[in-house]
Amino acid sequence: MKDLKQLVRENIWTLKPYTSARDEYQGRDAHVFLDANENPYNNPINRYPDPLQRDLKQSIAAIKGVPAANIFLGNGSDEPIDLLYRIFCNPGIDNVVAIEPTYGMYGVCADINNVEYRRVLLDETFQPDAGKLLAAIDNHTKLLFFCSPNNPSGNNIDREVIEKVLDSFDGIVIVDEAYIDFAGVPSFLEQLSLRPNLVVLQTFSKAWGMAGIRLGMAFASQEIITIMNKVKYPYNINLLTQQRAMDELMHYERIEEWVKAILSERARVMEEFAKLECTVKIYKSDANFFLVRVKDALATYSYLVDKGIIVRNRSKVALCGNSLRITVGTVEENNALLDALKQKI
Ligand SMILES: *Cc1c(COP(=O)(O)O)cnc(C)c1O
Repeated sequence: MKDLKQLVRENIWTLKPYTSARDEYQGRDAHVFLDANENPYNNPINRYPDPLQRDLKQSIAAIKGVPAANIFLGNGSDEPIDLLYRIFCNPGIDNVVAIEPTYGMYGVCADINNVEYRRVLLDETFQPDAGKLLAAIDNHTKLLFFCSPNNPSGNNIDREVIEKVLDSFDGIVIVDEAYIDFAGVPSFLEQLSLRPNLVVLQTFSKAWGMAGIRLGMAFASQEIITIMNKVKYPYNINLLTQQRAMDELMHYERIEEWVKAILSERARVMEEFAKLECTVKIYKSDANFFLVRVKDALATYSYLVDKGIIVRNRSKVALCGNSLRITVGTVEENNALLDALKQKI
């Protein structure tokens, strides 16, 4: 990896961050807070939240087995994705490389930040080629995005390819593990302490059942996390989100039950899809959704909309012609989908 100083934009490297009242005073035993111009009434939401979410990070550190100093929390994973562009990529000069097809936000954040986005097409089984990825890199490539399990294809990306790129690329490699709880393979978090150029993204939006509170995680070296904290909005995670996440983490064993139920339903729904008249091909899934190629995706999509059932039509995405992305729901929801499709002529 290049020196971090060489990779980070100069204006960010030299940035003197905003210091909030709650940054300056971090002790806990004070009981009179006259430092932040808050309204003294309407406890407890009258107070600014902890800008570095220390309690919440302690809980996450214990669950994930990663020190709190290596954790960044964002307003969904979308916040760390955007922050990485703003920290590393000089607009109009630097570029990033990503597998294609994949999660759309990497490309949108590139456009917003005026950063060239280089798409390297996966093969027919939705696997990347390390040689092709490395060939797309040049001196101005700062970030390289993997998403595993990948969205919208649903499959785990070959571990050897990710490791080869981590070994060979001298910029930052991001592995988005939004669906890792369903994947049945180890997380790249295991390699965090050995690899200074690795950033792992995870989220509370999928297996953890908290999409509504907007909470995403980035795991990286302490040096990278420190820079992310410098650039983020001072109070990026609101008090209600921090409190609710803490409450939910108290009984996080529940997610094991949810994941088990979802995986068993995924197997059943995929089996049923294989028997459907409209199905052309079902792709292997390591996530809580699967991709299916059908005879006429728009017709099937519209038919389902009429029945009040919404799936995702991914037909315009590379390698996904006539393909629908189906999230695995409850038994009742899945039955509603299957019953509707069985009735379709
Ligand atoms: C859903 C998803 C996310 C989660 O985004 P949040 O902003 O945390 O809700 C991140 N990456 C991928 C690939 C996803 O599919």
